[in-house]
Amino acid sequence: MPEVINLYSDTATTPSPGMRRAMAEAEVGDEQLRADPTVNRLCERVAELLGTERAMFLPTGTICNQIALRVHCEPGDEVILEETAHNRHYETGAAAALLGVSLYPVAGDRGVFLPDQLLEAIRVPGNHFPRSRAVLIEQTANLAGGTVWPIETLEAVCRTAAQHGLRRHLDGARLLNAVVSAGVSADRYCRAFDSVWIDFSKGLGAPVGAALAGSAQFIERAWRFKHQFGAAMRQAGIIAAGALYALDHNIERLQQDHENASELAAGLARLSALVVEAPATNMVFFRTTPDAIGTAELADRLRDRGVLLSLMSDGRLRAVTHLDIGRADIVRTLDIVQNCVA
Ligand SMILES: *Cc1c(COP(=O)(O)O)cnc(C)c1O
Repeated sequence: MPEVINLYSDTATTPSPGMRRAMAEAEVGDEQLRADPTVNRLCERVAELLGTERAMFLPTGTICNQIALRVHCEPGDEVILEETAHNRHYETGAAAALLGVSLYPVAGDRGVFLPDQLLEAIRVPGNHFPRSRAVLIEQTANLAGGTVWPIETLEAVCRTAAQHGLRRHLDGARLLNAVVSAGVSADRYCRAFDSVWIDFSKGLGAPVGAALAGSAQFIERAWRFKHQFGAAMRQAGIIAAGALYALDHNIERLQQDHENASELAAGLARLSALVVEAPATNMVFFRTTPDAIGTAELADRLRDRGVLLSLMSDGRLRAVTHLDIGRADIVRTLDIVQNCVA
């Protein structure tokens, strides 16, 4: 049985020997007393990277989104976001279930919407309506193709939001992919926002963790909800050390993932049975043509041959490159796909 090529997601990475060593040797303390030295070091490092006053360590990106929106919103408030947003599709309706907040989807172009579209979505004040309270931008835009919001568009949307009293929240699960791809610094992207977060368990390759960042006042309020939602931890330095290691070693190399995605997309596009979306970062979305094998059947065949990818609910297939995927895996994947669609 050949080794499995796991293109299901960049969450598939496992901690490297060096990362495991750093975790095993981490200095620890009580995180919820803010006395874990490794967590504190990570938070300082993230705040510096993102150009914010403070940061907070959390177990997942999902809870970063909930805590940030809880700080920004009251029940009955509305958050404007792009229709493909992770927050809307993959977080079990948490905005409704935990926050009493409704979501207003805007149809963007590959995940990116414009200031005029935001303006149209903002409610007029009045007792009949939800109160438009925040805008959420996803960088990179996952379901839209791993696309990168151009800095000018992102700043223009945030400017319009600010003019209308809306808070700005950045879902930066893959912000560093955008940084590496566009050559725009993380702090430049984050400057336009009241709250931002990054995920360590995606392309950065740590086993667990995310960090939420913002002003000192924002983070202080976020601490209350960190406790309330059960995400205040104890000797969390063990996992924070993996995140620190990821920041030291795994940012610049995201470029390789982008190159591998490009090579994969170019190879797939040469097959007449496939329609491939041009990748922007580390994700390749594709489907089969109507006269070819169905996408679900193709996914099954690929799995039988050791290639894992995700079948999206809209029928597209998604392959994600990451640090456990090398050039040879791309070549072998292309070979196997070619056989499966033949
Ligand atoms: C993965 C992801 C999340 C959620 O992060 P978890 O760490 O899996 O909870 C949120 N937004 C986007 C865009 C993501 O890709």
